[in-house]
Amino acid sequence: MKNSIIGFPRIGKSRELKFASEKYFRNEISCDELYEIARQLRAEHWELQKMANINYIPSNDFSFYDNLLDLAVLLGVVPKAYRELGLNPLDEYFALARGYQGKNGDVKALAMKKWFNTNYHYMVPEIDDEVNIKLCGTKIFDEYLEAKSIGIETKPVITGGFTFLKLAKYKCCKQAEDLADPISDAYIEILERLSQLGAECIQIDEPILVTDLDKCDISLFKKIYQKILANKNGIKVILQTYFGDVRDVYNELISLDFDGIGLDFVEGEKSLELIEKHGFPTNKILFAGVVNGKNIWKNDYAKTLELLNKIKAVTDNVVISASCSLLHVPFTLENETNLPNEVTKHFAFAVEKLTELSELSRLSEIDYENSDVFKSNRSIFLDPRGNADMDVQRAVDSLKDEDFTRNVKRSERKQIQKEALKLPVLPTTTIGSFPQTAEVKHNRARFKRGEITESEYRAKNEEFIKSCIELQENIGLDVLVHGEYERNDMVEFFGENLAGYVFTDKAWVQSYGTRCVKPPIIFGDIKREKPITVSYSVYADSLTDKPVKGMLTGPITILNWSFPREDVPLSEIAYQIALAIRDEVLDLEAAGIKIIQIDEAALKEKLPLRRADRHSKYLDWAIKAFRLVHGKVKPETQIHTHMCYSEFDEIIKDIDDMDADVISFEASRSNLSIVDALKNNNFQTDVGPGIYDIHSPRVPSADELVSVINKILEKLPMDKVWINPDCGLKTRGVEETTKSLNNLVKAAVHIRKTRLTYAEN
Ligand code: GLN
Ligand code: ZN
Repeated sequence: MKNSIIGFPRIGKSRELKFASEKYFRNEISCDELYEIARQLRAEHWELQKMANINYIPSNDFSFYDNLLDLAVLLGVVPKAYRELGLNPLDEYFALARGYQGKNGDVKALAMKKWFNTNYHYMVPEIDDEVNIKLCGTKIFDEYLEAKSIGIETKPVITGGFTFLKLAKYKCCKQAEDLADPISDAYIEILERLSQLGAECIQIDEPILVTDLDKCDISLFKKIYQKILANKNGIKVILQTYFGDVRDVYNELISLDFDGIGLDFVEGEKSLELIEKHGFPTNKILFAGVVNGKNIWKNDYAKTLELLNKIKAVTDNVVISASCSLLHVPFTLENETNLPNEVTKHFAFAVEKLTELSELSRLSEIDYENSDVFKSNRSIFLDPRGNADMDVQRAVDSLKDEDFTRNVKRSERKQIQKEALKLPVLPTTTIGSFPQTAEVKHNRARFKRGEITESEYRAKNEEFIKSCIELQENIGLDVLVHGEYERNDMVEFFGENLAGYVFTDKAWVQSYGTRCVKPPIIFGDIKREKPITVSYSVYADSLTDKPVKGMLTGPITILNWSFPREDVPLSEIAYQIALAIRDEVLDLEAAGIKIIQIDEAALKEKLPLRRADRHSKYLDWAIKAFRLVHGKVKPETQIHTHMCYSEFDEIIKDIDDMDADVISFEASRSNLSIVDALKNNNFQTDVGPGIYDIHSPRVPSADELVSVINKILEKLPMDKVWINPDCGLKTRGVEETTKSLNNLVKAAVHIRKTRLTYAEN
């Protein structure tokens, strides 16, 4: 059997692309130098795939920022404001991605959203009145030719027009249906050009097909593809799906003139059933996603080969594939020299998954039971892992209803907290982290390398905390934070302090743009062994009369931003983590911390893509896990939570059900649409809809912020609203942060004055 991958990580073995791009942003290298580094990375990645005997090697999976943004640019979907900046193509591209503030103008970045059920974020294409979809760029052709020039024949990949139109934001009277024709024409032109260049096939990704689709969606999908497929120009078209199954459109898919169809057999619960029930046409290739592209565990060959046998019983024409792009796993296990073999033998990262695919290719053609490769894989799954903690398992088993419920209702708590905290209306705060300067990172790195003692390390962190508190007092914020200088990452930090976790050195995964995260790995049962954040919070609290928020990451985010075990249900892992974080909450409270923020930035990450599964398969236990964390605190302790980057509208009731006292949201990039959802759903929790975008270096003026707050107050009562940026400040510089926060406080103070004076009169 042949094999294929859908996409490969582009960031580089040692995040070369990140560092080069950031140098370019700082004007330290030229655009030609950046292009050259990108070219080298692509070449290395193609070579790796070739060496691993991958048959269908993708091209155009590279991106400087995001593939959907690449597609928008390729199709000429660039809003006027960006075109009018008059920048060169690369800078215009980065202006769309990151916003632009300079001599050519001042524009915000495009909105950014979570890519389906992953922790990757895509840039939302924006369609305005002047949109004129047509083929405008050459990236997909250039990269195909580039691979060819080094002797590698590739399969160009591109996201499909249907997914594009469904994910785009419409800032005009046009709708997706109105653009079906021009977008089909653009793809036809792409096929034509690729065919002229000698490409044999193209992979068109339509991940939106694994979500709930209605009749209109299906007819739009058919309309687009009937037209494209009638004009293939001799090139084979592979329709690729991932992150689920295509139950709503399977029959349409197999009856359209695709040459190959890629289905996900890992997350696609119904994929096997679909092909068994409806058959699979003999004239099409089935790209069977059987190697998990999202998790880091080794593939269980016995199970996979058995699955492949079932698939082969339906069709012979099968190519073995990963379930989705390998973008979602770290680059290579070769980087992990500090982990024992007992641990790493269970893992496969992107490069190792290439080997798995090629081994599976071979095994699928032989009587594999006796092969050494098969036997050594088998032993990994049969040997006991020694990762159980009976106390933890018992604690989870004996949880009762009252563990999940605070003993005073939220509305009553609000009164109690009002008296205890004495905050002004529209209290100002931040989401937790402050800029991670070179000095801050250096301190952590030195401690990690063993160059300084723990007490030297802590003393330095206390210096940072001290100046952070001073800075916040000078700015005039109402609820302060300690700044999170001890954390590289909100999940890794907690993982490092919990038993049951395993850490990698370089297992970075792209989150958005050049930003990567290093998810820790849940290897065994989770337990907190000692307090994690208490001493820093208590220290910060001792420096000021203002309240300092304790800052924790919630169980669902810890779970969703870790690589989870596959041998126990997710709900059980969630409750284990919740119990560990509950210990921390109670210790903070006992140490006198009056406000505790438990971040659930990634609550939506694992939300099932299909509506029917959302509660039964996820929310029912996820929301409970959060409630478990604060179920035992006193009514006067104010519990905050924070969430970012996603459309919350559809789970707004569930968010209210988390029973937090205050929640801050990312909102500025989505133009405060969240505020309407809060209003329409009669949201009960007090809220801080982020009033400016921290993912961009742009400094909002006080006037701009005044108008944002006024807009919020048109929809939400003043006594429910908090004023804060939309996320943590760790990726920003000190100067821009100080300016932005000064403007934030200025804006809040101004509004308090005008509104309250007005009310008094
Ligand atoms: N408290 C975290 C911070 O401020 C939250 C980060 C996040 O939401 N991604 O960095
Ligand atoms: Zn956030």
